[in-house]
Amino acid sequence: MSKFSNHNFANQKALIRVDFNVPLDKTTYAITDDTRMKAAIPTIQKILNDGGSVILMSHLGRPKEGAEEKYSLKHLVKHLSELLGGKTVFFANDCIGEQATLTASMLKAGEVLLLENLRFYKEEEKGDETFAKKLSAFGDVWINDAFGTAHRAHASTAVIAKFYPKEKRFFGLLMEGEVNAAEQVLHKAQKPFTAIIGGAKVSDKILIIENLLEKATDIIIGGGMAYTFIKAQGGNIGSSLCEDDRIQTAIEIVEKAKAKNVQIHLPEDSVIADKFAADANTQIVQSNTIPDGWMGLDIGTKAANSFSQVIKNSKTILWNGPMGVFEMEKFQAGTKAIAIAVAESTQTGAYSLVGGGDSVAAVNQFGFNNKVSYVSTGGGAMLEYFEGKTLPGIAAVNE
Ligand code: AMP
Repeated sequence: MSKFSNHNFANQKALIRVDFNVPLDKTTYAITDDTRMKAAIPTIQKILNDGGSVILMSHLGRPKEGAEEKYSLKHLVKHLSELLGGKTVFFANDCIGEQATLTASMLKAGEVLLLENLRFYKEEEKGDETFAKKLSAFGDVWINDAFGTAHRAHASTAVIAKFYPKEKRFFGLLMEGEVNAAEQVLHKAQKPFTAIIGGAKVSDKILIIENLLEKATDIIIGGGMAYTFIKAQGGNIGSSLCEDDRIQTAIEIVEKAKAKNVQIHLPEDSVIADKFAADANTQIVQSNTIPDGWMGLDIGTKAANSFSQVIKNSKTILWNGPMGVFEMEKFQAGTKAIAIAVAESTQTGAYSLVGGGDSVAAVNQFGFNNKVSYVSTGGGAMLEYFEGKTLPGIAAVNE
């Protein structure tokens, strides 16, 4: 059992940093996707069940100068109450100050208070200590459950930690899940360990690949970024996506992988198109013989089969980035095939983590989210974790 699960929060005021940065309709301010709110409910519920009270703080959007109606967390109060089974949710229209202090001090066991958007104060993102201290006065304990902002050293996500002794700092259940999943893959991986890296740009993924060269046995490279590697090896890639200034990097990655005995797998064939459009003409060719005027927009069937084989032989799988332009039907077969292989491998005992951006969207879209071991909700934070960086929001709880 974890530190959070073991703790009894009875009669304690728990100050929780959540990630309620949900998308809102521009005119009605209705919540258009409540995934992040739902993800925080188990943590809140556990504290309420114990007989504690909860003070929630979050950012919403990117307010420029002080308070802005469209970024007010008051738009979330009604839905939060519904998600908590009809419980009253008090709201403080300032995240610090008299009203918030008074409401927090009067909060009884089992009650919930939501504070206004932290980013209405510049001090939040600056990691201002005085601001963090004011926030810390609300809670007997501080819980970080906002994995999505764990890579930021903001007042509420990291700096606040110094106002609590270690035994009063916790990860919430969501954060715990993310940290455990990342640790499982990055530090406790059973081998063979295959990393599947796709998406558009090599430049976005270099640090991840370099970190994984130290840990994985196999690295599958698909998506638009594969073509920089294929060109680096002398292939003709037509008008496929290519970062010419990263060709040298691609050469070096392949060399490093050889030296470390890590297998790099590039797509043998590709689905190519005569334009970047859903109604393009398509054909399947070897990835290194793409004619001029054509572009690779998905891995081909041979590549999908051989990648699937590698995945099925793995005991640990990390997947970041789609294999093709999966948003268009003609170019989604490769990503789908990989999703199937990851699901099958998971069923036969492999540990699989899907994290960061569009691969998460892809497994959700294809209905595979329950067939992998863990789907991360923390885009940028998970990517920095994969890069091997120390995340301030995690260090703040642990150190
Ligand atoms: P990323 O955010 O780096 O993971 O990139 C995801 C995006 O890469 C998605 O929007 C895909 O449509 C796009 N993508 C994947 N494969 C290709 C490709 N072969 N050519 C162009 N874009 C691609």
